Amino acid sequence: MSSYAAFYRQSIDERDAFWAEQARRIDWHTPPQTICDYSNPPFARWFAGGTTNLCHNAVDRHLAARAQQNALVAISTETDTERAYTYAELHAEVQRMAAVLQALGVRQGDRVLLYMPMIAEAAFAMLACARIGAIHSVVFGGFASGSLASRIEDAEPLVVVSADAGSRGGKVVPYKPLLDEAIELSRHKPAAVLMVDRGLAGAAMRAGRDHDWAALRAQHLDAQVPCTWVDATHPSYTLYTSGTTGRPKGVQRDTGGYAVALAASMRHIFQADPGDTYLCTSDIGWVVGHSYIIYGPLIAGMTTIMYEGLPIRPDAGIWWSIVEKYRVTHMFSAPTAVRVLKKQDPAYLSKYKLSSLKALWLAGEPLDEPTAQWIGSALGVPIIDNYWQTETGWPILTLCNGVEPQAARLGSPGKAVFGYNVKLIDEATGAELTAPNQKGVVAIEGPLPPGCLQTVWRDDERFVNTYWKSIPGRLIYSTFDWGIRDADGYYFILGRTDDVINVAGHRLGTREIEECIASHPNVAEVAVVGVADALKGQVALAFAVPKNAAGLEAPEARLRLEGEVMKLVDARLGAVARPARVHFVSALPKTRSGKVLRRALQAVAERRDPGDLTTMEDPAALAQVKALVTE
Ligand code: ATP
Ligand code: MG
Repeated sequence: MSSYAAFYRQSIDERDAFWAEQARRIDWHTPPQTICDYSNPPFARWFAGGTTNLCHNAVDRHLAARAQQNALVAISTETDTERAYTYAELHAEVQRMAAVLQALGVRQGDRVLLYMPMIAEAAFAMLACARIGAIHSVVFGGFASGSLASRIEDAEPLVVVSADAGSRGGKVVPYKPLLDEAIELSRHKPAAVLMVDRGLAGAAMRAGRDHDWAALRAQHLDAQVPCTWVDATHPSYTLYTSGTTGRPKGVQRDTGGYAVALAASMRHIFQADPGDTYLCTSDIGWVVGHSYIIYGPLIAGMTTIMYEGLPIRPDAGIWWSIVEKYRVTHMFSAPTAVRVLKKQDPAYLSKYKLSSLKALWLAGEPLDEPTAQWIGSALGVPIIDNYWQTETGWPILTLCNGVEPQAARLGSPGKAVFGYNVKLIDEATGAELTAPNQKGVVAIEGPLPPGCLQTVWRDDERFVNTYWKSIPGRLIYSTFDWGIRDADGYYFILGRTDDVINVAGHRLGTREIEECIASHPNVAEVAVVGVADALKGQVALAFAVPKNAAGLEAPEARLRLEGEVMKLVDARLGAVARPARVHFVSALPKTRSGKVLRRALQAVAERRDPGDLTTMEDPAALAQVKALVTE
């Protein structure tokens, strides 16, 4: 077994040799001529000269050995349906979809926007685009028409693929009226709309523009659409960031680098073997869904499970029942989902046989220690945090147990992942911080490894200016997150660079205060923001969701709990970190990808306009905050 330290060093010091080796994990039509062309920094062209196809690597390549193995299982607790597709069946469905898209005029380089619920047809459409070299742009289903319209304008799709409706918690959300409105609002008009009819809401079809998937599919049952071999640098898709800190950025991803990075991650991070089963509870509208519901597991020859529904419906055992039934080996979720489960009866976790499960990976936001400990002891498998961004497409920090088993450290997403030349930078001077336990901006020295964003869609300038120019005096990629690294190379993420508050001259990370408050036995979830204060510059305000809201109706009970929380902060972090108020709320305002919208919280707490809220999940949560702070 090779040591991870040596493996990592090679990925940086002998970059091209390292990635040439990893490139052998996928099929190439023409092998790459150049491993990394970095002649025009910060733009990296990985595997230039090579031609390949993502769909070939995800589907066709496995037909020889595993045509009859399940490739995709689509489970919906919203419609009570379960449907499995073998690799052979997936191959057929993808070709039908590809033929239909071609019939609608889609050619290589054209954009296809997907506005889809978590149904198998969404996977077919993504893979079909990849197959014919079209660029997909998945927009999270159920986004309001304004958000959808701005994405349609940005991506300028020739075709939009959608469905009559999504469903959430048993409530049908019709998509077609939202889509029609979005197209109305958008300056760009797609030539065609392909509608999947789930029989949930029906859809008014516009003659000449709208087409029914089932009808067109029936005309292409025997379709044979060969894979289009595209350049390694050909864009495979665009995808917007979550919009936690501002206007979402359109991330553009390549083809060859992405396939290689995912294949390498499946081996070295996930230790995945062909035939294993992957359950990723994200949504295809997010980067985690792209990489680890669709492309990563399929490239690795696994069975991947798509799940439409809530984690607690019909009850909080639903995910574990899926693990038992499909003998899931790898599971990927988000801390926010685990915290939802933590509020439920823990008995659901012991009801099912989970012996197939090897580990649970979590990403998307800080994994607080109480949550990690709770789920770890409940499942009895390693809980592996991993830190990355829509921009990077795959983990920046985690444990590469496939290279060398490494112990997790609570509160740390692990070490720098191979290929990422991670640095901690002093924000003011731009100097690299090399000594352990110093706090700096987490930055990545170019070139970014394969799989990361090539640029911002049609906006090279925004790519350079946003990501590469924030640190004085050097061209280096900023993650806009704070971190420290301990003496053994484990990183700790301390929050976003704009989540630092300054109380009477003391700079405090809101994350530290949150961690502390979350350790109170009656706190399920908490967000801390800094708000302007005439005296101290800024003070911390906490918004906490109690685990047990019963008994907190009386103002005295809330005050008592608030006092307990403040004492806890005093004792652990000192009085300077003590929040001025701890408000108890029933939910925190979050993006639809489950991230706390701190900038909106902060704006509302400071009685400012919260700005772009297009990616917000539940407006009621913010309304509640507004009511509390104006009280
Ligand atoms: P935007 O960039 O549009 O404001 P966003 O940053 O929330 O939105 P994503 O790309 O979905 O969009 O999220 C990446 C960010 O999520 C990271 O930069 C980091 O702040 C946070 N994050 C992701 N994983 C972790 C993790 N394991 N630990 C701590 N933070 C994490
Ligand atoms: Mg971001």
